[in-house]
Amino acid sequence: MKIGMNHGAGGAVMEKLIKDTILENISKTSVNGGVGLDALDDGATIPVGDYEIVVTTDGHTVNPLFFPGGDIGRIAAAGTINDVSMMGAKPLCITNAMIVAEGFDIDDMDRIMKSMDSTCKEADVAVVAGDTKVIESSKLDGIVIVTTGVGIAKKGEIIKDSTLEPGDKIIVTGSIGDHGMSLMSFREGFGFETDLKSDCAPMWGIVEKALKVGGVTAMKDPTRGGFANAINEMADKSGVGVILQNDAIPIKREVHAVSEMLGIDPFEVANEGKVVMGVKADKADEVLEAIKTDKYGKDAAIVGEVVEGEKVIIETGVGGQRILETPIADPVPRVC
Ligand code: MG
Repeated sequence: MKIGMNHGAGGAVMEKLIKDTILENISKTSVNGGVGLDALDDGATIPVGDYEIVVTTDGHTVNPLFFPGGDIGRIAAAGTINDVSMMGAKPLCITNAMIVAEGFDIDDMDRIMKSMDSTCKEADVAVVAGDTKVIESSKLDGIVIVTTGVGIAKKGEIIKDSTLEPGDKIIVTGSIGDHGMSLMSFREGFGFETDLKSDCAPMWGIVEKALKVGGVTAMKDPTRGGFANAINEMADKSGVGVILQNDAIPIKREVHAVSEMLGIDPFEVANEGKVVMGVKADKADEVLEAIKTDKYGKDAAIVGEVVEGEKVIIETGVGGQRILETPIADPVPRVC
């Protein structure tokens, strides 16, 4: 069997490749009893003394390199900062490895680096190491960037994606589907005519505010495979069900419009500046208020509740229900 685009598109097909071909061949997947590769969480943890170091890594192949609301430099920084943040750890630094095609414009690389820098600045993150390789233009489409992120948390304060508990409220920190839908509509040639922009942004500010209030039980960033993938993965790993209120889930009008035009479900496409959070019921309102004070959290909402069970169910309007399934793959390829 050969690799297909779906093998890198989040969702069930990619999960099978990771489990059967990647995890199956790695013998040691964790250090000092920390969260390891086999947990398939947003990052790994290495307990050291009174702290846990968080490590995560991401390859970025977004197409096009420059898009409304961001570029590969912003996404390479934010994506990695966010995976560290999702573990409840303060991001400290990233490394930056770039594989560049011969003939790539140095002015474009300059733009990409400036964008990476301004994104890191937002979260007070340093770029501490890097690598630059050049290969023949026939063998690569422009540039691929690989970033590794390192963060730190006090021991016992790590937040996983597998620890939702019945009774928890589910918070999303803003509108769903912006990144995937804006990228798709840009590629389809609707261009900059719509106001639709990627939400690509570092989430540490939001996470820090939520953690300060307390009661956060689980976190995940809904990237490839979108909200549908993230909430199903969280529910599945936690051994719980989730009931969502359709009307409570924030979706921009433009996202609805593009989604109908293209026949793509906004729940299944990537977000690059959102968090899905489980929060203890008695803290949920306070956490929501704290998130709303962040510039990236104004549209945050409580969208549902964790229950005993094993399905993610969306309640629609008057008494209607549907199961929200894990997507087979993100319908929009090369989003990050
Ligand atoms: Mg993630």
